[in-house]
This record gives sequence, C-alpha cells and structure tokens, in this order.
Amino acid sequence: MCRKRSSQWVRCGCFAVLLPLLAIFPAAAKSSSQKSYHLDLYNLHTGRSLHIVYRVGNHYLPSAELRLDRFLGDWRVHKDHDMNPRLFDLLYKLDKAVGHPGGPIDIVCGYRSPQTNALLHRTTGGVAVHSMHVLGDAIDIRIPGVSTLEVRNAALRLHFGGVGYYPEHHFVHVDVGRVREWEYPPQGS
Ligand SMILES: [Zn+2]
Repeated sequence: MCRKRSSQWVRCGCFAVLLPLLAIFPAAAKSSSQKSYHLDLYNLHTGRSLHIVYRVGNHYLPSAELRLDRFLGDWRVHKDHDMNPRLFDLLYKLDKAVGHPGGPIDIVCGYRSPQTNALLHRTTGGVAVHSMHVLGDAIDIRIPGVSTLEVRNAALRLHFGGVGYYPEHHFVHVDVGRVREWEYPPQGS
C-alpha cells in the first residue's frame, strides 16, 4: 500500500514538493516513522505486569514479541506460542478507542494450548472447540475503569476482527479473525 501511494506521489509530482520540506524538517519526518507503540498489561492469572514498547514505526520488535509471547502463554501448562502481532495493535487501538491511550489492560486469557482449550470446552460455557486462542490469534481482556459493555462497543467500532461479549464474567474476547460478534450467554437464554 505504501509503495503504491509513493508511486502515485512521484507521478503527481508531490514528491518534488516533499523533498525540500523533508530537508528543512528532517526531525518531523523521522518522528512519524519512528512512532513508538507501547502496551501496559497485567496478567490476572500470574500477577505479572508488562509495560513494553512492541513496535517502532512499522517494525515489530522481535525481543518485545518474545517477551509478549511468554507473558501471554498458557499459565496452566507453562507453554508459550507465537502471538499474532496484529493483536498487539488491536489492544493499542482499543485503549485509544475507550479514551485510555497507553492505559493498563488486564489479560484474562491469551494463548491457550489445545489441552487447556479441550479442558475448558468440557468444563466451561462459551469456549469454542476450535478456539482462536489456540492459534495465538485471540485474547480476552478487561480495561480497568471502563465497563465491559463500553470495551465491547469500542471493539465493534474498530471492525478489526471477532468480538465476544461475556458480561457475566466481565471480559471481552477480541481476535484477528473475520469481523463477527457474539454474546455469552446468548441474550434471552
Ligand atoms: Zn476468548
């Protein structure tokens, strides 16, 4: 997309205008491409906190991704998994969308190993057989000081992926799959 946009700029001659401006304001050009994206997470099961810059500009920091994978691992069986970095962007955007940019996010569930997912599917309501948690593509969260409904509505407005609303357990499931929504237990049940 960026490549396409820049070629259009060259064609329309905007680049000729931009180049002298970049020479005059190099710091401004650098700051937009060097924007830092950070998350402030608290894992409700392990009691651990993680405040981390996971991305600078369009570059996801490998060391930060490793720490996040570990932080969001399956605490029941002590297994980590590659988490989809788009999830981190989703959390970052969600924080902004509820008016708490950079604010703390409580993690209810990150990665779930197949055995843990099977156990929860058997013993708990609202756990899918083929959960996206097993792929590292989903996360369940709360945002302190923001109602579960408000978090759900903000996630829906983002149109980023799936959004599950679990009002009885006070959390929202978000994932990077196709855009869809559900509530558990279903209304009227
Ligand atoms: Zn979930």
